[in-house]
Amino acid sequence: MFKSLVLTSFLFLLSLNAIALESIRSYEVTANPMRMNQIADHFEIVKKLARSYEVYVKEDDVLEFLKLAPQAKLLLKNIHSEFNSDDKSAQLNLAKYRKFSDVERDLNTIVSTYKDIASLETYGTTKGGRKLYALKISSPNKFFLSDKPEIMITAATHGDELVTVEVLFSLINEMLAGYGKDPRFTKMIDGRNIYFVPVVSPDSFEARERYVQGLDPNRSFPWPENINNKTVDCIQGIMDFSNAHKFIGSLDLHAYGKLVMFPWGYTENPPVPKDQVLLSDLVQAMARENQYKAGQISTTIYVAKGSSADYFYWKKNTQAIAVELADQKVPPYSAIPKVITEARELMWTFLEHFN
Ligand SMILES: [Zn+2]
Repeated sequence: MFKSLVLTSFLFLLSLNAIALESIRSYEVTANPMRMNQIADHFEIVKKLARSYEVYVKEDDVLEFLKLAPQAKLLLKNIHSEFNSDDKSAQLNLAKYRKFSDVERDLNTIVSTYKDIASLETYGTTKGGRKLYALKISSPNKFFLSDKPEIMITAATHGDELVTVEVLFSLINEMLAGYGKDPRFTKMIDGRNIYFVPVVSPDSFEARERYVQGLDPNRSFPWPENINNKTVDCIQGIMDFSNAHKFIGSLDLHAYGKLVMFPWGYTENPPVPKDQVLLSDLVQAMARENQYKAGQISTTIYVAKGSSADYFYWKKNTQAIAVELADQKVPPYSAIPKVITEARELMWTFLEHFN
């Protein structure tokens, strides 16, 4: 009995340790297009550099990666070094960011403060036992003319992109505080039903990690050439959630890169002409003030298969946009107001587009 208890505790500690040590390297890769496509099939290309690409590689996959890209230049030994750093100021900075319990507390504060227009829904529970929350903003339909357009805005699909959650809460609060006072926000809320999912991936958000059960959540959606792509609990959850609604617009917030993009990601082919014009105009409008780079996912960064934007556009027929906010995933906390300023008109423009 005692022995098995010791063994169980040992295994438990070992697994805790493994969770705390998700280590992802960042490499710079220059390769011919065929080789880049092979790399893109297995690894996450996160940034287009002047003549090369930045690629994320899990520690366990480094050997496999180096077979494809032997000349790759190591940029960072661990993209999460700020999370494990001994540096006091890095730790203090990290501690200011919301944890999942803070997200729950703030969601509850919002619905109790704005009872008439805000309500909280749950659409599942993760393997880690955390609830999947959607905050619904909707005012009584004054004119009873027709159903209001439904829009979904999501953040923290990647659990390590902490700034997305801070920005989203700030803008939600700004919008709600303006209801009934500022004609712009009043109209914005009266004209549509808006669903905010502040943390798509609560387990990895709590762990400050990118991957869930070893998979990249934003490569875990089906796409037209792989309708049975392997997925994870929180992504299955958001797909089920979207099935229960008729969203006509979806916006997925990521960090970083200062980009506003539309599908397709899985192919360099553009969407059908009428959608291409519509989506291209939309991303241009969203980037007008912040000067983010606007374009199609596959040609703005690189071909990425299994992302949320492709799925919602393909399966749910939404005008689906992916945004990369800021120039860091976890900027100094004092720099967040600057990111909020970048995101503000981008988000209002997106919402006002649907009517
Ligand atoms: Zn991301």
